[in-house]
Amino acid sequence: KVVTRFAPSPTGFLHIGGARTALFNWLFSRHHGGKALLRIEDTDRKRSTQEAIDAILDGLDWLGLEYDEAPVFQSERGSRHVEVAEKLLEAGHAYKCFATPEELEEMRAAQRAAKEPQRYDGRWRHRDPSEAPLGAPFVVRLKAPEDGEASIEDKVQGKVTVRNAELDDYVILRADGTPTYMLAAVVDDHDMGVTHVIRGDDHLNNAFRQLPIYRAMNEIEGDWPDPVYAHVPLIHGQDGAKLSKRHGALGVDTYRDEMGILPEALFNYLLRLGWGHGDKEEITREEAIELFGLDHVGKSPSRFDIKKLENLNGHYIREADDARLAGLVAQRIEGEVDEKLLTEAMPVLKTRAKNLDELAEGAAFLFAKRPLQMTEKAGQLLDDDGKARLAVISERLAAQNDWTIEALEATTKATAEELELGLGKLAQPMRAALTGTTTSPGIFDVLVLLGREEALARIDAQAA
Ligand code: GLU
Repeated sequence: KVVTRFAPSPTGFLHIGGARTALFNWLFSRHHGGKALLRIEDTDRKRSTQEAIDAILDGLDWLGLEYDEAPVFQSERGSRHVEVAEKLLEAGHAYKCFATPEELEEMRAAQRAAKEPQRYDGRWRHRDPSEAPLGAPFVVRLKAPEDGEASIEDKVQGKVTVRNAELDDYVILRADGTPTYMLAAVVDDHDMGVTHVIRGDDHLNNAFRQLPIYRAMNEIEGDWPDPVYAHVPLIHGQDGAKLSKRHGALGVDTYRDEMGILPEALFNYLLRLGWGHGDKEEITREEAIELFGLDHVGKSPSRFDIKKLENLNGHYIREADDARLAGLVAQRIEGEVDEKLLTEAMPVLKTRAKNLDELAEGAAFLFAKRPLQMTEKAGQLLDDDGKARLAVISERLAAQNDWTIEALEATTKATAEELELGLGKLAQPMRAALTGTTTSPGIFDVLVLLGREEALARIDAQAA
């Protein structure tokens, strides 16, 4: 049975790359009818914050990535990590290193001077701990394989081979007895039954360091099979550089709150970022689950394109349920909002909007209070000529009992003809008076949405 996990470190928000890793893990487990698990890697107590944990949980929830078990907090599993370290020690797969920080710094300085790669030289690997001064502090290091090669059949990267000589005996337990990420992640993955480790390819090197722990523990206890690895290329910016804040590598919450992106739009965009399945424009959750596989994850970094995300968002806004949109947009409009009216207006509002803020902007006129604030351009349309035209249309509309688009259109056109004006010359000051702006939905839609009383009052307020 397939078990995946998403294992964020809560040292920052859930950024776009993390969200995609979460999505791929989630889809893969759902595709295989397996389990999707979440582990919060909060062992770095200084850098981990509750705020970041909340932002991560919140972001995952918003994207609709639900997990099959309560999240595992790595910090609560310290004694289990120590237990495994002790087993490795006892079986001779790990050893105590008493080298002092000064000594190690000296070693690295010598390596720098000789232009050699900087790594631990194994000085305590073959020494007896009794050679250390009594009570001297020590770290526990894993005995990494010394010669030969190691290969991983990565589901995304293909076969990757590393010379074992490149790996040093890294620390699994610090001098204060706390486990390092390298140990904790393996122990937790094993204990959680994780079968597939899908993560950013910045962790590919770690796979070569983590596998020896599986192998050693498998020798000691059995039942520590290698996981399947899939290291997904990182997301890059338009300029090809690794994604950073400057490119829009923002927290998922920023896309939601500040950019007015719908979760289904981000879900779809992230899915296509690095995973390709034909030219299909729009993929539902169900289709994504059905189609997702690691074989279609690209090997080269994908480029983040905010324009594409916005276009996709516009598409999903047009697809979205009007009442739901009204609820989301209402939060973005200042003052009192009639959600029923907003829902009714949604079909005409959403035709062009790319995000929820544009929708809110477009809807603001519905709830504006008289006297309306005018934009500069709108004010210019309400000169003497404009006001005179408003006086005429006000009278004609006041005589209008049938307040429907068709009837209002007929009356307005007839009035324009009567005044020997093009329709625009009449409609423009009307729009200014009715909305305070020069851009809005069609003028007859505006009249109907505002209703007879309010529409006439707005026109009269500006008429000569
Ligand atoms: N906590 C690590 C990170 O946020 C992920 C470790 C892993 O996936 O193995 O980068």
